[in-house]
Amino acid sequence: MKFFPVFLDIRTRPCLVVGGGDVALRKVTSLVRAEAAVTVVAPYLNHALTDLQARGTVQHRCGHFSAADLAGFQLVISATDDPAVNQAVHAAAVARGIPVNVVDQPALCTFIFPAVVDRSPLLIAVSTGGASPVLARLVRSRLEAWLPEAYGQLASLAERFREPVKAAIAPARRRAFWEQVLQGSIGERVLAGRMDEAARCLQATLQADGTGAVLPPTGFVCLVGAGPGDPDLLTLAAVRALQEADVVVYDRLVSPDILRRVRNDAERIYVGKASGHHTLPQAEVNQLLIRLARQGKRVVRLKGGDPFIFGRGGEEIETLTDEGIPFKVIPGVTAASGCAAYAGIPLTHRDLAQSVTFLTGHLKDGETQCHDWSHLTRTGQTLVIYMGLQGLSKICQRLIDAGCPPDRPAALIEQGTTCQQRTLVGTLADLPTQASGAAIGSPALIVVGEVVNLHRTLGWFNEDHAGRSGHSATGPLPAHRHWAE
Ligand code: SAH
Repeated sequence: MKFFPVFLDIRTRPCLVVGGGDVALRKVTSLVRAEAAVTVVAPYLNHALTDLQARGTVQHRCGHFSAADLAGFQLVISATDDPAVNQAVHAAAVARGIPVNVVDQPALCTFIFPAVVDRSPLLIAVSTGGASPVLARLVRSRLEAWLPEAYGQLASLAERFREPVKAAIAPARRRAFWEQVLQGSIGERVLAGRMDEAARCLQATLQADGTGAVLPPTGFVCLVGAGPGDPDLLTLAAVRALQEADVVVYDRLVSPDILRRVRNDAERIYVGKASGHHTLPQAEVNQLLIRLARQGKRVVRLKGGDPFIFGRGGEEIETLTDEGIPFKVIPGVTAASGCAAYAGIPLTHRDLAQSVTFLTGHLKDGETQCHDWSHLTRTGQTLVIYMGLQGLSKICQRLIDAGCPPDRPAALIEQGTTCQQRTLVGTLADLPTQASGAAIGSPALIVVGEVVNLHRTLGWFNEDHAGRSGHSATGPLPAHRHWAE
């Protein structure tokens, strides 16, 4: 190990930066963030540094560096493009035993700057010991993506309760206590932005612990949108939730590829509904979530697309609210956005569609009575119809009867965003025949409007899969990406 990792408390400590340019500014900025007392020595300062000096944030010693400048400083950074100056700063600092960093010159550094993930008070510092700062930054960007923004608040909560926990809980049990707090429903509350509630629960847990009382376990339910199929469309928050879940309750629309992102030892419960085959009635799903949460589990309720768009997400969390179970909702890419993007059909367009409407095509008792069809016929709008495959002919006929021209462009996208995606492009008049000819299956989304024609020029996703070619009404598309790879 070439560099020993430590975190320095440099608040109010005198630190010297040699150089007045952009690189110096970056170093000054990090020192100022750590509340150091910064002096810059340089013949000239750039605009931003001049500004900082004018505001009294930094001191300026005007002139060229000399060894005598180091008197009284506890840390020095050389950020000049003059090798002789950098060498002189290094030699003078080493002679006085002052830690020195010469920017981009590892050989002249007695300390280096790590790449930092800042969730203050939580800090993660990444270093390659000067071997490859770019690699350190790449690692940092991965951590940035993985670490929830609210971890800083979690660390602050732990800081607030550190002493009370020390006083109340014997050292042998302390670690287990904190693990339970940080990973359990209290931590989840912080991540859901419910800081006050988390603090109250932590206080109650601590008090119960002191009296020997056992509080009923409280789990947490996370209603998660899984997106339309491509696992790369999961949000960062969704991936984290899948990795932290004790149990995942999922639907028919959630693809196996997405289920593979679930923590290995998490329990998986299928409650999928195929139309007409209700595996588990909605009320029972609601009760299941409550039961699992009451067992103290971190429950993920995973739904295709977005949970609040034709997902019954509202109904499920209503019962959680009634039962006082804490929860949060993570949105997902809804089928309309996913399918439209992958089919190259912009849902709005300045010239072609100024609005877009999401509709259900689900037929109640064989009829689509729920819509006022006359409002759906005018030009300049896009209709996206979910759950419309079974009723496709009726839906197209209804639109025509209500006044839509039969040649209004219409598309059907099957298994959008997955490697099985197929897009049929036609008109209200011929789409149903095309769909039965191509044996389109579920899930499929209907898009109606002038924007549909853009698929021919904007389609980018390779739909020409093995055994599937020839079905796309538009012919082969440019092969931008091979899903099988
Ligand atoms: N909550 C989901 C929608 C659930 S309703 C969302 O936001 O996407 C189920 C309907 O969504 C299906 O009948 C189909 O019309 C549509 N759908 C979902 N995933 C799809 C996909 N990958 N390709 C095409 N349509 C899809």
